[in-house]
Amino acid sequence: MASQASTSSGNIEQRRADALKAYRNKMREHENMSENLKNLRFSLKDLEKDFAKTEDDIKAVQSVGQIIGEVMKQLDDERFIVKASSGPRYVVSFRPTLPVAKLKAGVRVSLDMTTLTVMRILPREVDPLVYKMSLEDPGGASFAGIGGLGEQVRELREVIELPLMNPELFIRVGIKPPKGVLLYGPPGTGKTLLARAVAATLSTNFLKVVSSAIVDKYIGESARVIREMFGYARDHEPCIIFMDEIDAIGGRRFSEGTSADREIQRTLMELLNQMDGFDTLGRTKLIMATNRPDTLDPALLRPGRLDRKIEIPLPNEQGRMEILKIHAAPVNKGSDIDYEAIVKLTDAFNGADLRNVVTESGMFALRDDREYITQEDLTKAARKVGEAKKHETKMEYTA
Ligand code: ATP
Repeated sequence: MASQASTSSGNIEQRRADALKAYRNKMREHENMSENLKNLRFSLKDLEKDFAKTEDDIKAVQSVGQIIGEVMKQLDDERFIVKASSGPRYVVSFRPTLPVAKLKAGVRVSLDMTTLTVMRILPREVDPLVYKMSLEDPGGASFAGIGGLGEQVRELREVIELPLMNPELFIRVGIKPPKGVLLYGPPGTGKTLLARAVAATLSTNFLKVVSSAIVDKYIGESARVIREMFGYARDHEPCIIFMDEIDAIGGRRFSEGTSADREIQRTLMELLNQMDGFDTLGRTKLIMATNRPDTLDPALLRPGRLDRKIEIPLPNEQGRMEILKIHAAPVNKGSDIDYEAIVKLTDAFNGADLRNVVTESGMFALRDDREYITQEDLTKAARKVGEAKKHETKMEYTA
């Protein structure tokens, strides 16, 4: 009996010891766990710090400036020749996410500052000059608003309108339609007006560029602007490109002098290149204007480039009468006007001078507190403009 009691108390002892052991183990485990948790909390803090730093780094990389370049040629599946806007050419690779098919010659891209990797494809419209040009609208000019240039209007329409509207006529005969036309003659005779009227009647897109502005404003980039201009026109056909003061870039090539001369030459070469490049039956037409046709490079006038030359002379008496009537039409008149008498006073006036005569006559009327012009106002205005012209010529000679 006594031995039975001692074994059962031994068992209890044993069980108690086991429970204690298990409890101690649990305690140790718990301690370990909380130690681990503490460590993990620390490393989480470190990771968070790392994450913030990486985010900052990415932001910094993204905000670093990028070089603008232009794709020249694809070398193989992974490399392109790219020309940076500063001039030099590089062999570069591109970001894997870019659509390679779009990386064609002439496309504007941005390059990473250090690796020169192509980072983005820039849209053509990003160029502020071409974007601005694209907003040019013909401004409601019409052939009815042009006086005394009947023959020139007919010829211009034949060169520009016919190939744009009826290209099949040319295909049937088997000849190539002219690509463009040169309007030449003294200033203020309506060259711009003619170009605008063509664009307005055909309701085409109309790009107007003053050539000197291209070389002045975009030194080092003017050849690209020319390329973009033609590219834009091709994308927005039918389109008429009007280049005023073409002598600024189309001047005869002298021996290479200053860097400005070289710039002009590069621009001209690009212009010739583009003119040769575009399809004659494409729906892009060129109109160029100059006051100084004698200074133009013959290469520009070679057949296949500017095929037609149209002289826009100073208006004759008949022309002056028409122009005067056009500009006087919207003006209030006190009585019937004897235009012939006025025309007699306007020898050697151009269209712009005649418009000026009408404006000046209106100023005389305003001075007299009238709401209409009279014959006398027009006579006085014609004399005044004539005097101003004489003064101008004198200044030109003494300068
Ligand atoms: P520039 O060579 O100086 O650019 P331009 O020959 O292009 O001169 P325009 O700008 O077309 O001349 O003409 C200036 C203004 O003169 C026109 O806006 C128009 O009001 C008037 N004008 C000139 N010629 C004519 C014309 N034949 N008929 C009606 N208006 C004319």
